[in-house]
Amino acid sequence: MEMTIWHEYVKRGGPLPEWPYPIRYGEVNEITADVLVLGGGIAGCHAAISAAKKGVKVAVAEAAMTKRSGMGGSGVDHWHAACTNPCSNVTPEDYTRAVFDSAHGYVSGPARYIIAKESWDTLLDCEKMGVQIRDVNDEFKGADFRDEETKLMFAYDYKNRHIIRVWGHNIKPCLYNEMNRLGVQIFDRVTVTSLLTMGGKQGARVVGATGVNTRTGEFFVFKSKATIISTGGAGRLWVFAPEIIGPGAMSDLNSAGVGHAIGWKAGAEFACMEKTGHGRLSGFGYAPYSMGNTSNTYHGSPIVDANGKEVPWVDIEGRELKTVQERFLPSPGQKFQLGIGIGISSYLKEYLLNDLIRDLPERIRKGEFTLPLYADLTRLPALERRAIFGMMVANEGKTRIPIYDTFTKAGFDPDRDMLQAPVMPPEGYAMSNFWSASINTPSHIRSLAGGGFLVDWDLRTSVEGLYAAGGAPIFGSGCHAGASTTGKYAGRKAADYAMTASEPGIDRKQVEAEKTRAYAPLKQSQGGIGWKELNAAIARVMQDYCGKYKNEITLNLGLRLLKEIRETEAATACAANPHELGRLLECSSLIMVGELIMQASLARKASSVYLDFHRLDYPEMDPPEWEKLLPIRLEDNEVKVRELSFNHHLEAPCSPTYEENYQLHCGL
Ligand SMILES: Cc1cc2nc3c(=O)[nH]c(=O)nc-3n(C[C@H](O)[C@H](O)[C@H](O)COP(=O)(O)OP(=O)(O)OC[C@H]3O[C@@H](n4cnc5c(N)ncnc54)[C@H](O)[C@@H]3O)c2cc1C
Repeated sequence: MEMTIWHEYVKRGGPLPEWPYPIRYGEVNEITADVLVLGGGIAGCHAAISAAKKGVKVAVAEAAMTKRSGMGGSGVDHWHAACTNPCSNVTPEDYTRAVFDSAHGYVSGPARYIIAKESWDTLLDCEKMGVQIRDVNDEFKGADFRDEETKLMFAYDYKNRHIIRVWGHNIKPCLYNEMNRLGVQIFDRVTVTSLLTMGGKQGARVVGATGVNTRTGEFFVFKSKATIISTGGAGRLWVFAPEIIGPGAMSDLNSAGVGHAIGWKAGAEFACMEKTGHGRLSGFGYAPYSMGNTSNTYHGSPIVDANGKEVPWVDIEGRELKTVQERFLPSPGQKFQLGIGIGISSYLKEYLLNDLIRDLPERIRKGEFTLPLYADLTRLPALERRAIFGMMVANEGKTRIPIYDTFTKAGFDPDRDMLQAPVMPPEGYAMSNFWSASINTPSHIRSLAGGGFLVDWDLRTSVEGLYAAGGAPIFGSGCHAGASTTGKYAGRKAADYAMTASEPGIDRKQVEAEKTRAYAPLKQSQGGIGWKELNAAIARVMQDYCGKYKNEITLNLGLRLLKEIRETEAATACAANPHELGRLLECSSLIMVGELIMQASLARKASSVYLDFHRLDYPEMDPPEWEKLLPIRLEDNEVKVRELSFNHHLEAPCSPTYEENYQLHCGL
């Protein structure tokens, strides 16, 4: 009989497997690079490639396996903000304004403009590396969403054509090959643990980083003239329940906020860390893109109820749309539609997408529509249908094998079959993304939603030598194109800086202290808790004291509890192998990111719709005196908060327009 249950295997005397890699705790590898990239995800790979193209020596430290790691590791189907593509009717300036105004100023102006300016060029880079970005096989010839001359295919807004459908399932292997071609040194399975600073001082120039190999336990000391943080988000901060989350998670559970934590400790400034959103990406829904819905990849899908009655689509004014074609066009008078999945949580009405009727929950309650609902792709024109299931589903992250392949092998045929939507309480249908519906996640489970390093027009943080790139590390960035373009730009700028910067001086005492800290869990008695319990405890503190609703007392209690966890459970936690060691070190970063969020939440003494920020002791929403950023950092380990206008990036000493600043800084 095949044994699949671990404890049964052990009970029957099955030998315990040995650790399959050589253990080399304490062995030190010293690596010198001009530009060091921390995190080899989408942003990190582009950063490494553009820095290497400048002719400097580049090293990448990646906790997982660069070839497939990170949120973009399993693919991409929507390429946003391609404003300069030959068919686009949206300028980079218009796009940036639309995002900035929709987010009410709580986004990074420089990052957003850089994204809009360079998204198309970066996509062309990817094409050269082997990613299919056009309908070269003429599978969709004649479709409304295709441009016959360029063979580009567009999503969402077929009139304005700034979002491109791509066959991005192989994007990471392509980036990986390009890095190898350019001679980038890649250190996989090395989880970064700290930044090194001149003289070991907080706020001083960053001159490298340390890391631990999670297979062999070796220690890494990276010495670099410039360093880029591109470690993604903090996927395990509010919830740690892998058995529940499993493949249902959107966020990358490998990303534990390490980049944020080490930057915070090094004295870099952050913005909007108080902004959180409901934890819909953390696995309490269904496997991404696996259920009937009308969001994102499934935009435009017809939804029918259990009796075959179709749910109407409406434009931004609530007017019913009679044809499928209209679902993909702006409403009369509307300039353009922004499209979703770009890292903002609020939209000005003038940039919204067409959608299902907005009172669907009430109509379900009244019995007008009967559950379950289904996505009936057979009602779409054949080319639309195949663009969704076959092209987008198959190239979108996490869909190629789990959804497209599995469903197809099981007999699902979109020409014939419908996809059921999850059965939920009616309010679950208020948002078109049914598989991740917020109703499935309790309100105290949150996600980081846009907070990160405050960067300037060079994408440099407030600390010399330290740059940020990617969807999560940069405050108010977002999306795959955002990660790619900010990576490419930061790589270029970091290389420029490295070419003239002085030699980095490593503080040996700082290295030794970090090495001692990193290996401490190996020396604990095996009576201490392990990383999973620790992670769960941190998440529980975040849920209880920094959930959707908070006040001065809960936040201070949360800070006290995180400190206690650090000094007791975390200080005595133990690791049995290099993998567990890496995870434990990530837990100490999670504690730091939790503290950073709570400190930022204490600093904002007002509630805000735009930040989805709810202070029970300051319930007034967005009072005018709090309409500002509150950059936060550590100085001599004391928390310092200042005020900054939303438009700071267009105020002196910056130039007054996006384009002037871009031209002054872009380094092209
Ligand atoms: C299923 C899915 C589908 C998506 N589809 C789209 C889409 O169609 N269009 C779109 O615009 N966006 C899409 N996104 C979002 C897009 O993938 C992300 O915006 C993008 O990948 C972010 O890139 P990044 O480099 O910032 O982070 P990531 O790609 O997540 O990379 C972060 C990297 O840092 C590494 N790392 C973390 N901690 C450490 C450490 N301590 N030491 C070393 N390395 C570390 C991680 O292993 C990872 O490789 C999708 C996301 C998901 C999950």
